Amino acid sequence: MASNCLFCRIAAGDIPSSAVYSDDEIYAFRDINPAAPQHILVIPRRHIQSLADAEPEDAAVLGRLLGCARTIAEQQGFAQTGFRSVFNTGVDGGQTVGHLHLHLLAGRAMHWPPG
Ligand code: 5GP
Ligand code: ZN
Repeated sequence: MASNCLFCRIAAGDIPSSAVYSDDEIYAFRDINPAAPQHILVIPRRHIQSLADAEPEDAAVLGRLLGCARTIAEQQGFAQTGFRSVFNTGVDGGQTVGHLHLHLLAGRAMHWPPG
């Protein structure tokens, strides 16, 4: 764990969060500043800086992350109505926390193109 990383510390339980899903590799929790009625962040427990830093050996955990996103969508009741899934990457991508995370946004109609 990167002790100076906010999301590593959240996944470890050092910083409180509202958990939505948890297993040995993946943790999901509610965004502190929701941009939609449902706004969940899905992260690998292992520190990966961003999608741009993902290595071939990260493929399995990234696959699991997407599978968990689907499970969460079912459990939270928005799999059928639909949802937005976003990885912000780097400066131009608007990434503010340097630990890879998938935003799941749901509960309202989303706009396209994004800002
Ligand atoms: P990014 O801007 O990197 O794509 O997304 C980071 C997200 O993390 C933002 O939506 C922000 O609201 C959320 N966030 C930042 N700090 C915390 C925190 O301490 N707890 C929780 N639950 N979410 C956070
Ligand atoms: Zn981290």
